[in-house]
Amino acid sequence: MQLTIYRGTHEIGGNCVELRTDSTRIIVDVGMPLIDANGESFDAQSLGGKSVLELLEDKTIPRVPGLFQDPTDSVPAPAAILLSHAHCDHTGLLKYTRQEIPVWLSPGTSDMMYVGLKFAGQVGVSSKRQRRFTPCQPFSIGDFTITAYPVDHSAFDSMAFLIEAEGKRILYSGDLRLHGRKPGMIEGLLEAASKGPIHVLIMEGTNVIPSGKPQKTEWDLEKELIGHIQQSKGIVLANFSPLHVDRLVGFFKAAANTGRTFVADPYAALVMNKASQYCGVPDPARDRRIKVFFHRSFEEAYERKGLSYVRNLFWENRIPLDSIRENPNQFVMVFRPSMVAQDFGGTLPPSASFIYSYWTGYLEQPHWAQFRDLLTQSGGQFISAHTSGHIGADDLRKFIDRMNSQRVIPIHTLTPEAFQDDLERVVRLEDGQPYQVS
Ligand SMILES: [Zn+2]
Ligand SMILES: [Zn+2]
Repeated sequence: MQLTIYRGTHEIGGNCVELRTDSTRIIVDVGMPLIDANGESFDAQSLGGKSVLELLEDKTIPRVPGLFQDPTDSVPAPAAILLSHAHCDHTGLLKYTRQEIPVWLSPGTSDMMYVGLKFAGQVGVSSKRQRRFTPCQPFSIGDFTITAYPVDHSAFDSMAFLIEAEGKRILYSGDLRLHGRKPGMIEGLLEAASKGPIHVLIMEGTNVIPSGKPQKTEWDLEKELIGHIQQSKGIVLANFSPLHVDRLVGFFKAAANTGRTFVADPYAALVMNKASQYCGVPDPARDRRIKVFFHRSFEEAYERKGLSYVRNLFWENRIPLDSIRENPNQFVMVFRPSMVAQDFGGTLPPSASFIYSYWTGYLEQPHWAQFRDLLTQSGGQFISAHTSGHIGADDLRKFIDRMNSQRVIPIHTLTPEAFQDDLERVVRLEDGQPYQVS
């Protein structure tokens, strides 16, 4: 078996991995890069009307034979694309791939991609292309037997893949961590891995360099949120990715624990509704503890986007903005800065606490300075409360030890050399460099 990482050996995200035997070729993840050639945050909007050929030329699309809609490429298409989870740095190039290639994904990833497409302009996948696998149950694609194992990450229903062919076993970690709400989730993967040798572990290394601080868990974060909400005199505005269901539940529970009502937007409400089919997440269509605020951008677009059913689904639990403004200190509200102009008439309620729950690097984007000024003017406070969606350095070493693979190949990292320091079995590849699994 041969493996090639077409992108991801020296960057965070943009993963694209090929595995091939003599007769079958599969692709794992087809991610959009997160950073551009200058090391700046990659602007996916800039792709606009660019053709596949232009995107190949400027290296946005890696040159994977047969994968993309490139009229000059006569190589047969691979047998399948596997998607580990619904983040754009793993799915974003899907729309440029040949439409005849089936896309294998978990039911939860399928649901999250649908919600991300409808509410956040993310990439979708047509139902015709979709092949949904059942987690923990092996399925076959040509020479390959593949088993997906649920892992904890900041996207709901993320998977790692155990990929077997020609007597070799490869484990692709996808993005994962051990400090989410369900650290025991990883046991299924570890148990399966222990049933035979793992020849290669393709391991994400976003946080391979120790941060020097103890890893905060999602449970720690929930306590922190409770503290912030208790100290807040006005409304609490929660800013996070709704696809991160752990975080969504954290905010909901923190609101409930402080006697406040959690107000979802239609995006977060639909994520909760979908996730409630798989686990104990409350469903805003039925759970009276949750209210749904239909903000203006939804009200203006739901018919055009085919989302009237979403409005009907949460209609019983809707809350108008006036009710929130009358008693702002009773609510924790899912919020985006664009709502200031669209829904709040350009001003924020007095003494608002805005809780920012993303990676702090994004705060360098210029629009944040303007929003923070506005918040200060209304006597509000800006609070940053976050923990990484990726495995911390200590856990990473423990995970690699327990996997006990013969080789470790770093991916999804800016610093693959940090793996090399203490692990002799590490093989560092370059993008596009084939590796023979032996
Ligand atoms: Zn990623
Ligand atoms: Zn991810």
